[in-house]
Amino acid sequence: MKYPDQLLKLIEVLKQLPGVGHKSAERFAFHMIQWSPQKLSEMAKIIQQTPEKLSHCKECGSLISDQCLFCNPKRLQAGSLCIVASPRDVFAIESTHEYRGLYHVLGNLLSPMEGIGPQQLNIDLLKKRLTKHEINEVIVAIDSTLEGDATALFLKKELEALNITVSRLAFGLPLGSSLDYVDGGTLARALMARAKY
Ligand SMILES: [Zn+2]
Repeated sequence: MKYPDQLLKLIEVLKQLPGVGHKSAERFAFHMIQWSPQKLSEMAKIIQQTPEKLSHCKECGSLISDQCLFCNPKRLQAGSLCIVASPRDVFAIESTHEYRGLYHVLGNLLSPMEGIGPQQLNIDLLKKRLTKHEINEVIVAIDSTLEGDATALFLKKELEALNITVSRLAFGLPLGSSLDYVDGGTLARALMARAKY
């Protein structure tokens, strides 16, 4: 039996979300078609407004609505900068309440397989920020994966020349794990026990 076209379209759209298979997408779609037209258009409106109302801070790369929550004079005083792979990682680190310095979102990790080389990491912007803000400690909070390790090593080599202490989260983080899946307590311990590498 074939579903009506619009229902099929809705299912296909929902299937694009991570972790949502065909069965779940069907369940969501059948649930959503019971919503009022008003509720559906409110949801559509929020999705539609997302690109214009949510952007990346030009300085640190974090997600912002208008002003960056992380680029401010108070955070500058800490003299430290935490390098993460994705904007989501910033919120993971924040949730530990153990860190009060600046952030720098790389956006990419080195991956020769996917054609991502050093140029895509925009190291020049990072170096500029480190010099401008008189940063004396850099914490590399990148997942311990093949790409993460390669990127961390690359960063270490690049930053060593700037006379900055570079440490990396290591303790308590399982190899190959993602910051997304590590609980706050483990992440907080990993932050406190950061080590030079
Ligand atoms: Zn910022």
